[in-house]
Amino acid sequence: MALSETSLIERYFRSGGAQRPDVALGIGDDAAILSPPAGSDLIATTDTLVAGVHFLSGAPPAAIGHRALAVNLSDLAAMGARPAWALLALTLPEAREAWLAEFAAGLGALAREHRVALVGGDTTRGPLCVTVQLLGFAPPGRALRRGGARAGDVLFVSGSPGDAAAGLALEQQRLTVPAAARDYLRERFLLPSPRVALGERLRDYASACIDVSDGLLGDAGKLAQASAVAVEICFEELPISEELEAALGDEGARQLALSGGDDYELCFAVAPARVPELLAQLPPERWGYTRIGALLPGSGARVVRGGTVMEFSHSGYQHFS
Ligand code: ADP
Ligand code: MG
Repeated sequence: MALSETSLIERYFRSGGAQRPDVALGIGDDAAILSPPAGSDLIATTDTLVAGVHFLSGAPPAAIGHRALAVNLSDLAAMGARPAWALLALTLPEAREAWLAEFAAGLGALAREHRVALVGGDTTRGPLCVTVQLLGFAPPGRALRRGGARAGDVLFVSGSPGDAAAGLALEQQRLTVPAAARDYLRERFLLPSPRVALGERLRDYASACIDVSDGLLGDAGKLAQASAVAVEICFEELPISEELEAALGDEGARQLALSGGDDYELCFAVAPARVPELLAQLPPERWGYTRIGALLPGSGARVVRGGTVMEFSHSGYQHFS
């Protein structure tokens, strides 16, 4: 295949990520040879981004490279795993060197930030599509899951959900916001920061964890369902960034925090007895997370406001007119 010409791969991907001693053989052979730490569980994930579906076709190539790895890092963060090795399957309509250089730079910078080595991949011709597979480690039996929460556990979320959805609306010109908020919201969409360090630390505290990629309410509902409990989120407790509030007002911002996607934050449950130590060891103002609700007996996901349950129509809330 013309596009998998060794020179292109050499130039753009060979030294893009971190260098790690546990990579016995990286890019260049038919497969990589990797040496996982003895006794660790290997945690594996993959995510595909299709042009026009998961990113806008005209998106900056560096942002596409960043996102392709970030969505996978976020999955490993939700498992409490430490990321180590990535593989990249790249389908490109043509080999445009400027595009490849920027894409590789975006992916490489985030990989180095998290000490991830790019150990292999595949390059083919076709409609633009990017798949990253990410491998990482957790101590045996200690990886976090969606399904460990119990009724009575406290629910937390990291970051300020809703920002990325507003950033996407800005990119699509469905929203206009004050200039001061614009760059922040755009960046929250274009360059998500997966909560890898927080995820790893949460292994010691969380009973269940999920990453918020499809909207906080829906994803908290998935955690609750996997744990066979109900989840209740308190509308007034949702953490809203100044910028989102400036863009949408308090009401709109809270609605978007519940339903907007692409946050790549962590939503996690902690048994009440463990909460004091969590707050002491991982100060919320430093680690950037907020208590937003609780897990309860029963099933389903609901939002409580001023003591009463809010109604949501299935057609969804109209954020941008
Ligand atoms: P093969 O025909 O054996 O699949 P390729 O030419 O596809 O060989 O790949 C050669 C080497 O380059 C392999 O080590 C492969 O893992 C690596 N590679 C190919 N494409 C990529 C890519 N997009 N990113 C990282 N490594 C890649
Ligand atoms: Mg190949």
